[in-house]
Amino acid sequence: MGCSVEDVTAAVRAAAEKVIAHRDELVELDRVIGDGDHGENLHRGFTAVLAKLDGGGFDSPAAVLKVTATTLISTVGGAAGPLYGTAFLRSATALGNVSEVDGRQVVAALEAALEGVVARGKAAPGDKTMVDALTPAVAAARSTVDAGVAEVLMAAADAAEQGAAATVPLVARKGRASYLGERSAGHLDPGARSTAVLLRALAEATRQ
Ligand code: ADP
Ligand code: MG
Repeated sequence: MGCSVEDVTAAVRAAAEKVIAHRDELVELDRVIGDGDHGENLHRGFTAVLAKLDGGGFDSPAAVLKVTATTLISTVGGAAGPLYGTAFLRSATALGNVSEVDGRQVVAALEAALEGVVARGKAAPGDKTMVDALTPAVAAARSTVDAGVAEVLMAAADAAEQGAAATVPLVARKGRASYLGERSAGHLDPGARSTAVLLRALAEATRQ
């Protein structure tokens, strides 16, 4: 059974609430290797997303992802806003006008999200960015066979958490953290962490 527009709206709401709840953690991570605004940026953006979703009137899962994208792009400053905006926008395009999303479409949406983030930010795996969470997430999602939406997202979330944790020893080569050079090593990348938080929330919301 696939996810309806109501299911997708509920999942995005849950993800927004989860990221909002992680504000302090994300601020703290970004304070260490960036400028400390990542949690604040996403808090602002996803609060605006919740307000937009309250308005309702979305006729497809893609429409929900698209309004999420445009809201993030217009409300989040910094690197992560346009990157997450692009991720949601490409996901929406990948879904097209289907009324129900299945596991295969989630895989396609995640692939499109990663392509968008890479096209925009030009980060490669190992550069210590959200790409280090999203790349293994996409690989894990792809390796699921005939899986439902929640199962695909669970695999993606598990891999994203591992990918985020694996950013700790890396030296940043993209974004603000790269200004620190070798001193960026030894710390978790905030964007990789928020990607893992988002995917975990989407997975939990679509389970059952
Ligand atoms: P800013 O760095 O402008 O203050 P944020 O603090 O909101 O923006 O986001 C920082 C996060 O954005 C980083 O932890 C990293 O994961 C991600 N990031 C930065 N630059 C890039 C890039 N070029 N490609 C992918 N992700 C990036
Ligand atoms: Mg920052």
